[in-house]
Amino acid sequence: MIVVFLGPPGSGKGTQAARLAQRAKIPQISTGDMLRQAVADGTELGRKARAIMDAGELVSDDIIVAMIEARISAPDCRDGFILDGFPRTAAQAEALERMLASRGLKVDAVLNLQVDEDELAQRMAGRARQEGRSDDNPETIRERLRVYREKTAPLVDWYSKKDTISSIDGMGSIEEISGGIDRALAREGAAA
Ligand code: AMP
Repeated sequence: MIVVFLGPPGSGKGTQAARLAQRAKIPQISTGDMLRQAVADGTELGRKARAIMDAGELVSDDIIVAMIEARISAPDCRDGFILDGFPRTAAQAEALERMLASRGLKVDAVLNLQVDEDELAQRMAGRARQEGRSDDNPETIRERLRVYREKTAPLVDWYSKKDTISSIDGMGSIEEISGGIDRALAREGAAA
């Protein structure tokens, strides 16, 4: 099963992707986590990515696509994987489609977590206090939401035309949202 989580920053993608990964026993692939790890490890990628992430902008498609291609080729991705934070641009979505097609695979379900903007800003501010993420300050939060609207939100339409996309109400409790995800996957015939 190959699942893509779409949704703005702060929509709970990471939390829900981790829970679904556990239920379905397949890996969660978070490009944000991979980049933060590279920053923490002080690798060349990390040094390049850090300023971009702190500004709330997107790391270049080439870098991200190469990172994903390597990751999904690992043996633990054999039975599928859950993408969290990728694709974020049309070029990334197209690259993913090509990458999967060359392996005889396709995205089985796209889950679009919907949360209103006031709630998003509040959640990100809360996360900044709890986790101390350097890109969760008010200015960067505004920029990340703007970049989401400009670059990532159009993927909802893109996937509506191509794959099975389900809108999930992301405003409830973690349990309620997980329930919504399971129901959507069952409808798509891609149950965990
Ligand atoms: P996230 O944890 O998914 O919110 O990602 C944190 C930051 O990492 C983003 O604001 C971007 O700067 C960068 N990033 C994560 N995933 C991608 C991606 N698919 N394409 C470009 N940049 C990304």
